[in-house]
Amino acid sequence: MTNGRFTFLNTESGKHRTIRLKTQPVDSDWMAGETVVSLLTGPCNDQDFQSFGLLMDGDTTDRRVILWKKHRPSPRDFRKNKWMFYSCLVLRALPLVQDAIEEMADDAEDLTIPVELHLGGNHYEVLVETTCRACGRSLTTPRSIKTGIGPKCAEKEGANG
Ligand SMILES: [Zn+2]
Repeated sequence: MTNGRFTFLNTESGKHRTIRLKTQPVDSDWMAGETVVSLLTGPCNDQDFQSFGLLMDGDTTDRRVILWKKHRPSPRDFRKNKWMFYSCLVLRALPLVQDAIEEMADDAEDLTIPVELHLGGNHYEVLVETTCRACGRSLTTPRSIKTGIGPKCAEKEGANG
């Protein structure tokens, strides 16, 4: 269970970031069999991802993220490098999410309770992607995940009922 889209909500600022882990098919032309780590950088949660590294040893305890060369920090900006920070968020979140999923009832389809973690003096809720109950599209924003419905479908439901 290392694939999926994970949304990190900073509970103090209210800002959120979505990070995707995706294992490439073994016959892919690019990064075959590797798990690519990407940041959502646009409005489309299917396509607007910018890759920034690889997740290594994804199922073991010594997992780590290898950043693309251009994203690696110099010694001077080590503490401010956002790609390092996103990597840390992912590495901290994965075991917590896995534990939470294992604790869930067998018949539960989605992890609906956010996992919480602290990093860099901030508190985060980690929300795992879910699907819209009305149209089945993937939901990745905190509000949509928590309500289980996308904004457009919520508007329609409001108009109809
Ligand atoms: Zn929908």
